[in-house]
Amino acid sequence: MTVPTTREQCAALDAADPLGPLRKEFTLPADAVYLDGNSLGVLPVRTPEVVRRTVEEEWGQGLITSWNAAGWTELPHTLGDRIAPLVGAAAGEVLVCDSVSVNLFKILTAALRMRPGRRTVLGERDTFPTDLYIAEGVTGLFDGARSVLLGSLDELDEQLAGGDVAVVLLSHVDYRTGVLLDMAEITERVHRAGALMVWDLCHSAGALPIDLTACQVDFAVGCTYKYLNAGPCAPGFLYAAPRHHAAVRQPLTGWFGHAEPFSFKPEYRPTEGIGQFLTSFPPLLALAGLRATLEIWEQVDLAQVRAKSLALTELFMGRCAQLGLEVVTPAEPERRGSQVALRHPDGFPVVQALIERGVIGDFRAPDLMRFGFTPLYTSYTDAWDAAEALREVLASGEWQAERFHRRGAVT
Ligand SMILES: *Cc1c(COP(=O)(O)O)cnc(C)c1O
Repeated sequence: MTVPTTREQCAALDAADPLGPLRKEFTLPADAVYLDGNSLGVLPVRTPEVVRRTVEEEWGQGLITSWNAAGWTELPHTLGDRIAPLVGAAAGEVLVCDSVSVNLFKILTAALRMRPGRRTVLGERDTFPTDLYIAEGVTGLFDGARSVLLGSLDELDEQLAGGDVAVVLLSHVDYRTGVLLDMAEITERVHRAGALMVWDLCHSAGALPIDLTACQVDFAVGCTYKYLNAGPCAPGFLYAAPRHHAAVRQPLTGWFGHAEPFSFKPEYRPTEGIGQFLTSFPPLLALAGLRATLEIWEQVDLAQVRAKSLALTELFMGRCAQLGLEVVTPAEPERRGSQVALRHPDGFPVVQALIERGVIGDFRAPDLMRFGFTPLYTSYTDAWDAAEALREVLASGEWQAERFHRRGAVT
């Protein structure tokens, strides 16, 4: 596809966009271009009704009978099975529960136990910090264990060669720069060194096709409130390759991971399969948001999502480069996720000035402006208009106003 050079050409692309009709599935903010769906996805139009039914009918009327009658007990599995095709997994391999951090705790601990004699968890220094904090917490529980942080992936082979690496944890797409890693190639390298591979899919699930099965990934975690639009703080998901189900033991052994939770036996006995990763039951009302949005995802072709995502980011990056901005996100499509990061020493006030103009991106310290492109509801004209707004904010110098320099608790 040639990159559009006028707003009219963008409008023509929107008119021909196979994903275009899905935009009406979402409640978008009036008079705004929302480029932060990689942080908190938008509200699907159908979600309030699904939540209302869950509250008023399943809870209000069904009460305790809804555990069986409304299928509540099965939801971590049934919702996981519906996420599975989005990440290249089969039914019974994905479970919805807990937060990404808690799921990582369970998986990293289980992985270290699967590699007795090896004591290193390897991560990347620039990864989303909660992943590193959890790795630190986990290694603190094992005698002699440590987490080692790579300054760059160029150091990966050297670390693997030491023979002490039990598990490697990497983000598929970097939350700041938008760099996409080669899942198949890296997983293979890690396996050759005898280590296990855990991928964090927070910035790739729903943004591009993923094939955990073909890449022979061991474990993965992901987020449902970013590209998947399940709603603020909706539970995460985890994947465990079926070849590990028999041997793996996760540490948070709560009643819902028991083989017979309602036998109320004093001894813990894990259920078979992915269900052993459950601890307690995830927040039921938050699952309603996931139920609703997955109805939309079932209509989506991820190849179309990827093609549009690359076209949108290419368009926006090209316009930003023309403004003389430093584009941090790789130009090569195979190395790019679905967001664009721009480096600017005054990135924070520039982003605030953009927000006042109705272009909602965000800022990641120390100097990155970040714009997420979510092809289900972001149009080509949105990308064009956002770049125009950025041009005007920079040309006018309006970002220098004092009000754009005040920081809230969340950036
Ligand atoms: C968003 C995100 C998380 C979120 O963690 P929670 O524990 O669910 O709050 C974790 N890791 C990465 C890489 C993320 O982008």
